[in-house]
Amino acid sequence: MRSVKGPPNAEACVWEPKSEAGHFKASGLTSNSKPHTSHLELVAAALDAAEKHLRCCRLCPRSCRVDRVAGERGYCGLDDKAHCFREMLHHAEEAELTPSHQVYFTGCNLRCGHCTVAEWNEQPLTVPEMDLEGLVEAVDRRQQQGARNVNLLGGEPTVSLPGVLTLLGRIRTKTAVVLNSNMYYNECVDNLLRGLVDVCLADLKCGSRGCAAALLDAGDYVEVARDNLRRAVEHTDLIVRHLILPGHADCCMKPTLEWLAAELPQVKVSLRANYVPPIGANAAPARYVTSQEAEAAVRYARDLGLRLIQ
Ligand code: SF4
Ligand SMILES: [Zn+2]
Repeated sequence: MRSVKGPPNAEACVWEPKSEAGHFKASGLTSNSKPHTSHLELVAAALDAAEKHLRCCRLCPRSCRVDRVAGERGYCGLDDKAHCFREMLHHAEEAELTPSHQVYFTGCNLRCGHCTVAEWNEQPLTVPEMDLEGLVEAVDRRQQQGARNVNLLGGEPTVSLPGVLTLLGRIRTKTAVVLNSNMYYNECVDNLLRGLVDVCLADLKCGSRGCAAALLDAGDYVEVARDNLRRAVEHTDLIVRHLILPGHADCCMKPTLEWLAAELPQVKVSLRANYVPPIGANAAPARYVTSQEAEAAVRYARDLGLRLIQ
């Protein structure tokens, strides 16, 4: 197993896994062999630890140290409840995940200038608390409609970790669990999710400290996300998605693909060219990706020998 160092600002976590014995290794995109009892035990232990974290929140590198249970709010703006603003059957995820039952959580620990759901991330409490019973029923219904998985996204779902775990503990249908994450979290989150996530659909956004600071408001993003990818590949079926940013070939696209080729050459890579420029001026690119830029990225990935998927 690769030795990795913890993300910046991460101090001793409240909870560390006592043993790997209860963890099952995800074997693919279905999880019919998931042992029910140990799954519930895993969820219960992780949920207990995650709730303790909220008393002095350091779930992500922002390390706000606020007491979310007492109503204090940090960078993500969340309290101790999960808030979901949408659930839907989606037909445009990567082909092997489609159709996918998406469950959107409000709140995020990044501030991407091109975010398409910014209102829910910047004002996460304007949406009511998660309707757990309703969501459990929705998971059943979406499975009957053909969903191949339940896909947790946001925002950033890991900032709502107790809510995510509560939902995972209540899902009755055996289904693959997809975590769609920006990968900006502390190591304790990876520890708590081990054995509970089948597919990590990771958005790896930038390739340089300067771009991450300007575009995401997180100068340490690249280092943190890469460390978390090294961990995620140990226990999930990892798909790394990279949204091609207009004008960011040399600073973001190329360094990202080169790092993947060097460090994680076996993982599946999904290049996305559907960048939507924001309304209003900020540091985010103000135009769409050209077909030449998209083709150049695919060529670059192929030349590096990466496993491209669609
Ligand atoms: S999850 Fe939210 S409150 Fe906790 S450290 Fe991150 S940004 Fe701060
Ligand atoms: Zn860049």
